[in-house]
Amino acid sequence: MIKSLITGIKQKADFVVGKVCPKYRIHRDLCSLCSTLYTKGLISCTDGNLSTRLDDQKILITPKFQNKSKLQPSDLVEYNLHDKTRPKNVTSEASLHTLAYLRRKDISYVLHTHPLYTTTMSISHPELIGRPYFPTSVLLLGKVPIVPYYPPGSEELARACADALADSNVAILKGHGAVVVGKSILQIQTRTEHLEWNSRAIYLMKNANSPTLTEEEVKQLESRSRSLGVLDGAWGWKKHDFIK
Ligand SMILES: [Zn+2]
Repeated sequence: MIKSLITGIKQKADFVVGKVCPKYRIHRDLCSLCSTLYTKGLISCTDGNLSTRLDDQKILITPKFQNKSKLQPSDLVEYNLHDKTRPKNVTSEASLHTLAYLRRKDISYVLHTHPLYTTTMSISHPELIGRPYFPTSVLLLGKVPIVPYYPPGSEELARACADALADSNVAILKGHGAVVVGKSILQIQTRTEHLEWNSRAIYLMKNANSPTLTEEEVKQLESRSRSLGVLDGAWGWKKHDFIK
């Protein structure tokens, strides 16, 4: 008890500005990304959650009910992916993060946001947002599956999301938000920002019959994306996603 108290005090001391040891650099990077996402309007106040894999067993994740624009490194929570019980102050979407890491051994980051256009378009035009209209979307996102509605924080939502992310790096939660996974902070930030750009662009077209790229054009872009290391999975569009 006293030992863990002393360890906790030492950890807090390490976070003091000017005394942050390299071990906690990742804490600061996660807080910095939360602040950026808040500034860009991709999360608001206590919305969203972000995590990173620390090793084979543990992840570091944002706490529940904290303003993401004011998050401090010492606010972040660690827990073991294989433990049945988790810290009480962990985000309510901890299961979603846990199952994503257990399903995808190749990823190091999971980010859940509530982007406005992506969330509203998932209700009003779900058939449009996964279509390959723009070359940058093919290059940066790949196929974007939509997860049916399940209550936020539920095990059902976590399982359905992990299924969707099995062969995709981006998933939309219908009427709720987005989840992206990746190997670096830059990758998850890029995917989240471009997903919202893509949804907004499709909203502005306001025409369900706007032509998409052709299958051949998409194949060329996928090949280029893989050679650049942007897309790192195997997935593809179906016939009905293409409009001439
Ligand atoms: Zn959410």
